[in-house]
Amino acid sequence: MPGIIERYREFLPVGPKTPIVTLNEGSTPLVRADRVAALAGLPRASVYLKLEGSNPTGSFKDRGMTLAMTKALEGGARGVICASTGNTAASAAAYAARAGLPCHVFLPDGAVALGKLSQAVVYGARVITVKGNFDACFKLVREAAQEYSLTIVNSSNPYRLEGQKTAAFEIWEEFKRFPTHQFMPVGNAGNITAYWRGYKEFFKFNSVNSQLAIRNSQLPMMMGYQARGAAPIVLGKPVKNPQTIATAIRIGNPVSWQGALGASEESEGVIAAVSDAQILSAYRLLASKEGVFCEPSSAAGVAGFLTFARQGGFRKIQNPRIVCILTGHGLKDPDTPLKSKAIITTINADGRSLKKIFQR
Ligand SMILES: *Cc1c(COP(=O)(O)O)cnc(C)c1O
Repeated sequence: MPGIIERYREFLPVGPKTPIVTLNEGSTPLVRADRVAALAGLPRASVYLKLEGSNPTGSFKDRGMTLAMTKALEGGARGVICASTGNTAASAAAYAARAGLPCHVFLPDGAVALGKLSQAVVYGARVITVKGNFDACFKLVREAAQEYSLTIVNSSNPYRLEGQKTAAFEIWEEFKRFPTHQFMPVGNAGNITAYWRGYKEFFKFNSVNSQLAIRNSQLPMMMGYQARGAAPIVLGKPVKNPQTIATAIRIGNPVSWQGALGASEESEGVIAAVSDAQILSAYRLLASKEGVFCEPSSAAGVAGFLTFARQGGFRKIQNPRIVCILTGHGLKDPDTPLKSKAIITTINADGRSLKKIFQR
């Protein structure tokens, strides 16, 4: 499949001469998850997982980065810069390499998953770690961008959200209708803002060009989840020192705060919080019961779904069609699985030892 710019050109700000920077991102799998449905107490509901970890650098950030880098190149940028909890850096570094642009990434020192850091390094970005959190990195980035005329490719760059909205188009195309509910993690809140925009635009487009008459035209409820120790939107005020094992959503002052509120209010959804224990439990369940390995942050949406379902959130809903967005790949963060009681047995290389492990 071609990348998202080619697939959805008419929805994106590109012209015939725009030099497209792509790694054929998007077109990610939507996988049915009957065991998750059963565990939520909804054995007959249709629950799907959108595997955004299948993007070229392993997270949804690639959807926005293809367009941000394309527009930077088209506009004659000297170089790009971003602050990141890891995935934006990995994606920016890859697409900048592809565009032939210098890339500077600022990361919170000691708080980035190993896979993401490795990616930024190998794609050839200039990697700077800062003794401070994401919010501190972002402040420095804004200063440096101004001072050295670099293009910021954080989600404050409007092209990022424009690219990211295409995931909503893919979901509609697969179901030929909207889900009733979408569950997802919320960090800087760009992604939930982008999905909501995508759903609304697709709705409008189809209402006008409606051979594809939208039956059952209800838009999905947007259900966003922050980690309890990093839940500024839930608390209604910035969090000075956000804490969670889900490093990709460890954000104290979200860039797209208003967008997230707009999405949840207009769609009659929620922005709520889940604990690290709930996140880790959903993370292990996805891998061990569904064969889907996502990073901890991605599991926040599924943790939210399980909580909402168990509290009876679906009682009055006839036939829920639920999508959970798994934002990043599990291999990004190879340390987390080994931190809990890892069951690994080491034996001598002989027949007696072999027998012993099967006798127990
Ligand atoms: C960036 C990211 C998020 C948070 O997305 P926002 O748009 O910042 O809300 C969640 N999960 C993963 C894996 C991410 O990389």
